Amino acid sequence: MHLARFPRTRLAHLPTPLEPMPRLSEALGGPNLYVKRDDCTGLASGGNKTRKLEFLIADALQQGADTVITQGAVQSNHARQTAAAAARVGLACELHFENRIIDPDEDYLNSGNVFLDRMFDANIQHHPRGADMNAIMEAQAEELRSAGRKPYVIPGGGSNPVGALGYVNCAIELLTQANDMGLKIDRVVHATGSAGTQAGLVAGLCATNANIPVLGIGVNAPEDVQVPRVYDLACATAELIGAPGCVREQDVVANCNYIGDGYGIPTEGMKEALLMLARLEGLLFDPVYSGKGLAGMIDMIRQGEFQGENVVFLHTGGSAALFGYLDELL
Ligand SMILES: *Cc1c(COP(=O)(O)O)cnc(C)c1O
Repeated sequence: MHLARFPRTRLAHLPTPLEPMPRLSEALGGPNLYVKRDDCTGLASGGNKTRKLEFLIADALQQGADTVITQGAVQSNHARQTAAAAARVGLACELHFENRIIDPDEDYLNSGNVFLDRMFDANIQHHPRGADMNAIMEAQAEELRSAGRKPYVIPGGGSNPVGALGYVNCAIELLTQANDMGLKIDRVVHATGSAGTQAGLVAGLCATNANIPVLGIGVNAPEDVQVPRVYDLACATAELIGAPGCVREQDVVANCNYIGDGYGIPTEGMKEALLMLARLEGLLFDPVYSGKGLAGMIDMIRQGEFQGENVVFLHTGGSAALFGYLDELL
């Protein structure tokens, strides 16, 4: 595997830090917890989509695109990082939002990520819950093409094999850091949604024979949907990096018991996790993804999982979304 073969636009501050969380570890009386700070990727308040966008934006530029089109929830971190990346390289940005939350308040609709999207001058269109977002993006791409423009469609979350290369890169980076620190990682835990993060990590760790298990905590779909979604993308990503067949079914593990009432809907566990991490480690997580991921990890530790292990929680970012949830959190 040789990632330099793929076009890449440098957008992220890398490597992101790998830090211990001693006060959280002590408070939980469990494993040694570390955090991989992908909230510090540096683009427009950071997050995991920036690593994917390094490869996606480069692909768009190579294809001569003048516009990127993508989609997500209203408070999408992916949309915000895409808008910032587009501004950085001089591409127009079209964002399509699915109104997944019933009865959203003013903060959710206009603050947090949405405010930042406007700062980056992205065009925003709202669509009802359940709309066919891929069809909507394709229709706009077609319209732009007939007007002589060159659109490049980025799937929700940037999750296709090209985007997942960003997390193959993260797997290599994490291994190098751990090797340099003499840290034997027993497990990586993170929030999984559109699947590109977990797929890239798993493909990268399998292709390097690292033998480090990854646990995705689902925030969106039930396990019987999420696991095959991650597995299929991990296999396609492994193929792209020249390591076809290295991902086995048992390499893809997701726990989807911490979603609560649905995507983007706060849970008590998420709120507790956000406040614990703020007050014990001075760290900010987000209500939709990393907060639910942490809630899952904390609950599993309380049930006796991961005892004696060195566990790395991959912080996928998203703190800008806190400002879309002001009334829900404190
Ligand atoms: C998108 C996102 C995730 C999930 O990553 P996927 O690659 O979509 O699975 C996790 N955390 C945050 C903060 C995100 O924005």
